[in-house]
Amino acid sequence: MTSKYLWSPAATPSLAVRGVDARFPVGRIFCVGRNYHAHAVEMGRPVDKSTSKPFYFLKDASTLVASGATVPYPCGTQNYHYEMELVVAIGASGFRVKEADAEALVYGYAAGLDMTRRDLQLVARDQGRPWDLGKDFERSAVCTDILPKGTLGVLAAGSIALQVNGTQKQSSDLAQLIWNIPELIADLSQYYHLQAGDLIYTGTPEGVGPVQVGDVITGQIAQVGEVRLTIGAAE
Ligand code: MN
Repeated sequence: MTSKYLWSPAATPSLAVRGVDARFPVGRIFCVGRNYHAHAVEMGRPVDKSTSKPFYFLKDASTLVASGATVPYPCGTQNYHYEMELVVAIGASGFRVKEADAEALVYGYAAGLDMTRRDLQLVARDQGRPWDLGKDFERSAVCTDILPKGTLGVLAAGSIALQVNGTQKQSSDLAQLIWNIPELIADLSQYYHLQAGDLIYTGTPEGVGPVQVGDVITGQIAQVGEVRLTIGAAE
């Protein structure tokens, strides 16, 4: 039985870790939909937490792009949107985790952009089809280096903001998350065996919108960091 590959496998997607001389190898990228009330309203789908549960979609780890990159305006869309998000980096395995035990799974945090082909996502949504064409496409998961949680513990509040060419577009607070970090880890781990290397994009606040070729996106999360992306010529 040979162990050779027919061709070289792709490199493991990974992120730098601030202050640590080792990279964080990325496994799965889970994304939370509609996790800020004002964004759910702007998408025309308000959320009643008392009668609903969080929902998720995934991006392949190969879609990861390091903050600071220039990416081409993607194919297949005429409505390419930014979504500024807190990213939770999972550093330990867990299944059916209790909210009180969720912190032990958190390795650290990053600032991310869930880049979206909004036109394709909305067609899929309205036709009851999967969101993959709108969400899970090449270079769509932008992420800073990871800040180990250190003494931050479970982040429960702090500003989250995004600018396009320096003009403020999104401004909210992590305290506005409908489902907070322990609730997300507890819920997601009912459906998946969470593993070290998984990322959770926790959802975007209101103010999402389109970008054009040449735009520069910047976004900050208090205590975590700043993400940056430049939109290059269409591919
Ligand atoms: Mn999102």
